[in-house]
Amino acid sequence: MHLVNAIGDTMVLTPDPLPGKGQSENYMSLRQPDGSLAWSISKSHYRKFFKANILNQYYEDEWLIPCDSFRVLLDQYGSGLDCQSVFAQDHFSEYGILPFHLLVMQDRLTTAFRQKNVNRILRLSAEMGHYIGDAHVPLHTTENYNGQLTDQLGIHAFWESRLPELFADETYDFFVGKAEYIEDPKTYYWDIVLDSHILLDSVLSIEKDLSLNFPPDKQFCFEERLDATIRTQCPEYSAAFHDRMDGMVEQRMRDAIRAIGSSWFTAWVDAGQPSFRLMRASKPSTTELKEREALEAQFRKGNSKGRKHE
Ligand SMILES: [Zn+2]
Repeated sequence: MHLVNAIGDTMVLTPDPLPGKGQSENYMSLRQPDGSLAWSISKSHYRKFFKANILNQYYEDEWLIPCDSFRVLLDQYGSGLDCQSVFAQDHFSEYGILPFHLLVMQDRLTTAFRQKNVNRILRLSAEMGHYIGDAHVPLHTTENYNGQLTDQLGIHAFWESRLPELFADETYDFFVGKAEYIEDPKTYYWDIVLDSHILLDSVLSIEKDLSLNFPPDKQFCFEERLDATIRTQCPEYSAAFHDRMDGMVEQRMRDAIRAIGSSWFTAWVDAGQPSFRLMRASKPSTTELKEREALEAQFRKGNSKGRKHE
């Protein structure tokens, strides 16, 4: 938590989840790193504060918090703080919050169905698809997500982009059967992430083995894309990796498709199975229109939107 006061000084507060002396485990402390200031705050107060002020902007890099809300949190503990602005930075999502976020998204989508808000249903369904797809990628479950720690730089795009680009259209079967109702979303989404993680060792070790045994000068090729020349894994090298993956990429894609359908279906069922015939797409709001225009402009410029490692 960063507090900026009237003179522009910034005070940094870090939460300390461990109970200090004489505190029960229902408390956490919020303190300056040098220990000069500290409040012990009830965790249930903090949870409420978090839900009201931070959760809805969780995916932003920095969370802006109204001073008043922060004062309300601290004043229960007699702070009397001088505060002009407050922002917080995340020290949790560095380690991944996807399984938690999937649950939040499932709730949001259910609510959108309940409200019969077509624009929101479409938007959240698409976002849910993105997140569930992400959860099926083994390399998304490790700090070594691009092989940077094991001298396998580029393995991320190799697995999730290059292999599908070369083989999906021609050889994958995307008919995966019916969606199923998800009884227990928490277990369901955690299982997806854990299943991805189980496959991680094979992804890394097989590519490592291959890279050591395939002629080094035949691993990378240059290809023309639009107006640019890019360096990417050669088709033969990719085919060798694909063979040794033995259907893994296809299977994860199939599982992802099924999970996405199941997530949508479950949200609809949990919302009371609203009839689609009664739903009409409303006119997009001004904000939505602006977003669309910005996206369209970016698309025309050829800048892809999204995280770099994708
Ligand atoms: Zn990725």
